[in-house]
Amino acid sequence: MSALLQFKDVDVHYGPIQALKKVNLEVNQGEIVTMIGSNGAGKSTLLMSIFGQPRISSGEIIYQGEDISKKSAHYVASNGLAQSPEGRRIFPGMSVEENLLMGTIPIGMAHCDEDMQHMFELFPRLKERRNQRASTMSGGEQQMLAIARALMSRPKLLLLDEPSLGLAPIIVKQIFQILADVASTGMTIFLVEQNANHALKLADRGYVLVNGEIRLTGSGDELLVNPEVREAYLGGH
Ligand code: ATP
Repeated sequence: MSALLQFKDVDVHYGPIQALKKVNLEVNQGEIVTMIGSNGAGKSTLLMSIFGQPRISSGEIIYQGEDISKKSAHYVASNGLAQSPEGRRIFPGMSVEENLLMGTIPIGMAHCDEDMQHMFELFPRLKERRNQRASTMSGGEQQMLAIARALMSRPKLLLLDEPSLGLAPIIVKQIFQILADVASTGMTIFLVEQNANHALKLADRGYVLVNGEIRLTGSGDELLVNPEVREAYLGGH
C-alpha cells in the first residue's frame, strides 16, 4: 500500500501553546483511518493544518508524494482533498441543491448532474429536501449535506471532522452507515472523532491523540479492546 497522506514529525504552535507535538501518521490508498481524542486534544488543528490553517511550525505533510505544508488551501482542495468540517458549515441561506453545486467548485461542473443523482441515492433524505433552505434542516440532515457536498468534488481523500458531533444516537448510526457505504466504494477516508466506538468500528486503523501527541496506534479492532482506550473513550465498557 502506498501512503496517500503522511504526517512526518509535525509540530503546530498557537503562540506559546503547542497544539501538535511530533505527530507521525499515514493514510494509505483505500483505507479508513480514524484519529480519536477528547476535547482539545488537537484533532481539528491536525485536520486544518492539511489546508495550511494553521501553518505547521516544523515537520512535513506529504500528500501524493509532495510536501503540501506550505501550499494554499485552494491548491490542496483542487488536488483531491475534501473536508466535511466540524459544525457542518454548510451555506445556510442556500438550498440543498445549491449547497451541492458549491461542492463542485474545485473540479468544475462537468459531472454535476450525474454526481448529484448519486448523492440523492446515497442520501435519500437530501433528495426529498432538495429545494429546502439548508438552515432549516435538522442537525443530522445538515451533517449529511456537508458530507455530500464534500463528495461532490470527487475527492481522492475525504476528511471528516467529528461527523457525529451533537447528533442523537440513532442519527449517528445512520451517518456511520452512510460512511460505511461510501467506504465500500473504495474511497479513502480520514475521520477525526470523539465518538471512539463508532469511529473504531468503521476504521481499518486508528490513532489516539492525547494533548497533541499520538499516544496509541493499531487496527480499529485492536484499539476497541485496548484497556486504555476503553477506560478513556468508551466509558470503561
Ligand atoms: P474539540 O474536539 O473540542 O474541537 P480538538 O481536539 O479539535 O478539540 P483543537 O481545537 O485542535 O482540539 O485544539 C487543540 C488545542 O489548541 C487546544 O488547547 C486549543 O485551545 C488550542 N487552540 C486551537 N485553536 C487555537 C487558536 N486559534 N489559538 C490558540 N489556541 C488554539
